Amino acid sequence: MERTLVIFKPDSLNRGLVGEILHRFERKGLKLVGLKMMHLNDDLIGEHYFHLKDKPFFPHLKRFMQSAPSVLLVIEGVNAITVVRNLVGVTKGYEAEAGTIRGDYSLSGQCNVVHASDSQVSSDIEIARFFKDEELFSYDKIDLDFVYSVDEI
Ligand code: UDP
Ligand code: MG
Repeated sequence: MERTLVIFKPDSLNRGLVGEILHRFERKGLKLVGLKMMHLNDDLIGEHYFHLKDKPFFPHLKRFMQSAPSVLLVIEGVNAITVVRNLVGVTKGYEAEAGTIRGDYSLSGQCNVVHASDSQVSSDIEIARFFKDEELFSYDKIDLDFVYSVDEI
C-alpha cells in the first residue's frame, strides 16, 4: 500500500467543493488515513513549493495559497500516488481532461483545486511535512476484499 498527500487548496474551500471532491476519492475505493485543516504559513509554502520559488508567479501562488485555509488529506491504497494523480489530472485546469478533478472543476493554471504528491519520494516528504505520526490512522476498512482481489493486496 502507498500513502499520498492531497491538499484541497483555498479555491476548493471558497467554492464549496471539498465534500464533492473528497467523495470522488472515497468512491474510487481509496482509504482516508489523515484529515485536517490548516492555514499554510510562509515556511510551509516555501518548502512545499521550493521547486517553484524562482518562478515569476511564485508570489501570486503564495498569496493564493494563504488566502484561506487548506484541507489536507492522507490517502492510502495500492498504487495510491499514481491513482490519485490520475484522478486529479494535469496541472492547468484548462488543459486537464474532462472527467479528472481539475478537468471538471478548474479553469486555471494556479487555482486548480487540489494538490497531489507526484512520486514516492515526494509523498514521504510531504506527508511528514504536514502530518505528525499520531495524526495518521491505521485501521481495517471493511470493503477491502471487494476493492481489491486477494492477489492485489
Ligand atoms: N502553478 C502556477 N503557475 C504555473 C504552474 C504552476 O501557479 O505556471 C501552481 C499551481 O497551483 C500548481 C502548483 O503551482 O498546482 C505546483 O506546480 P507543479 O508544477 O508542481 O504542478 P502540480 O504538481 O500541482 O500539478
Ligand atoms: Mg507538483
